[in-house]
Amino acid sequence: MHFEIPETMKAMTLVAYDKLALARVPVPKPGPGEVLCKIKSVAICGSDPKMIHGGYQFANWPPYYPFIMGHEWAGQIVALGEGVEDFQVGDRVAGEAHVGCGKCENCKRGHYTVCLNYGHDGHDGGLDLGHRHYGFYWQGANAEYNVYKTSALHRIPEGVSYDVASMCDCAGVAMHGVELAGVTPGGTTVVFGPGAIGLCAMQECKALGAGRVIMIGRGNKLDKAKELGADICIDFMKEDPVQRVLELTNGVGADEVMECSGAADSPYKACQMVRKTGSIAIIATYHAGDVMIPANTVNFNEIRIVGSKANPNVSDKVLHFFATSQINGEALITHRFPLERYEEAVDIFEHKKDGSIKVVINPEMEA
Ligand SMILES: [Zn+2]
Ligand SMILES: [Zn+2]
Repeated sequence: MHFEIPETMKAMTLVAYDKLALARVPVPKPGPGEVLCKIKSVAICGSDPKMIHGGYQFANWPPYYPFIMGHEWAGQIVALGEGVEDFQVGDRVAGEAHVGCGKCENCKRGHYTVCLNYGHDGHDGGLDLGHRHYGFYWQGANAEYNVYKTSALHRIPEGVSYDVASMCDCAGVAMHGVELAGVTPGGTTVVFGPGAIGLCAMQECKALGAGRVIMIGRGNKLDKAKELGADICIDFMKEDPVQRVLELTNGVGADEVMECSGAADSPYKACQMVRKTGSIAIIATYHAGDVMIPANTVNFNEIRIVGSKANPNVSDKVLHFFATSQINGEALITHRFPLERYEEAVDIFEHKKDGSIKVVINPEMEA
């Protein structure tokens, strides 16, 4: 298989906070251990509008302008860099945002999303220890092509579309938290937040054997949760979720809680509704900054609270769940746009217009 590679490509670039521009830029060349991918689908993530608005200045994302964002993507390998043996031209692949250095203690233990050499990529003249965070401080997928280290890539199973595979990162973020908290077979699991990550977490908990999954959210966003298999939905605008979960569990509490809402009071409520010795995964991030945890309850009840950063070692698992429809990927995609209409796509996604859940960009789509 051989692909003609053009010299330049179109890319959606962030040129200043709240300012995007379609640009023509060089097609990047794969270095040793890297491949060039034709980008087929990029899903918009909650972190994308936040970065556009300057919400990650503390993390120095983006590190320069113009910057190509986009980290939830799927595409096809069209050229190999030197020494690549593990993938071939023509392979259909889904990407992860994080590549660890592979050398630090955390990476060696498999915890590469909390690599101790984060940001050491050599781009500013410093040491290149091999770390990458595509779409955050390293060029991302909002373009026709991008270069990736093969350790960021996973083959897409047959029957899974590029659009669905682009949610590998999103479903993986949910899966990592679900794995860390654990799922009690036949038990009761609570998921806070029926957004894309929460809906993935809910389906993953079912796939892993939860007896029943309770989704907490509000309004018609709960309809999708119901449609995708939530056993019980609690609208927190209409009833007290803590009281209801305790009622449903004979006063004992849920076996585990997956916090995917990002609401400032959800971690507190999670501690009140989880059983003694239960587990809570903090999968969301919080615009409010530091949030309250009832430390005495955590102590007296031996509650295990675990932070969950990104999606290490789960991509093949979630791609399998997509292939078997244990995660219904198609049901999560509500909108598709060409790259040229990225701003409109972000607006629909960010402001949850028109029932949007997951909005996917197709760079090959006619504008
Ligand atoms: Zn994301
Ligand atoms: Zn590392």
